[in-house]
Amino acid sequence: MIAVNGSYHCVVEYLDAHLGGSQIKDIVPGDPEASPATPTYLVFCDGHTLPILCPDCGAAHTMGMEPDEFLEDVAGLYLIGFSYLPPEEDEPEGIELILSQDPDLDPNDANDDNSDSLFVHLSSIQQLTCPHGGEEDLTG
Ligand SMILES: [Zn+2]
Ligand SMILES: [Zn+2]
Repeated sequence: MIAVNGSYHCVVEYLDAHLGGSQIKDIVPGDPEASPATPTYLVFCDGHTLPILCPDCGAAHTMGMEPDEFLEDVAGLYLIGFSYLPPEEDEPEGIELILSQDPDLDPNDANDDNSDSLFVHLSSIQQLTCPHGGEEDLTG
């Protein structure tokens, strides 16, 4: 469960309501040198954005590669699924985003050949932005 704007949601249902099946259109590169650092955002075709925060500490320093390279890797991919990763000994809880070029791929059939994984901090989910003001039906 995560708290968003004072109400609690199941994190996977929340993500699915906003971003399930969405296609990545663009990224907004962050600035890790800024103070505070700004995260890189994924921009989806339907207007949602999702900041990529370090899965370990929630800070905005996760970009391991050049923005151009990262954009090339993720642009056009569909967000076909998510997994909640419970906390482990030395790692906090987090979210795995499952990305694929095939919007109809069953996330259960996802593997290294047909999809990519991106790990983000739970805070990323709380900071997603919604073009509908968060009005999606989160109950269904
Ligand atoms: Zn939304
Ligand atoms: Zn970190």
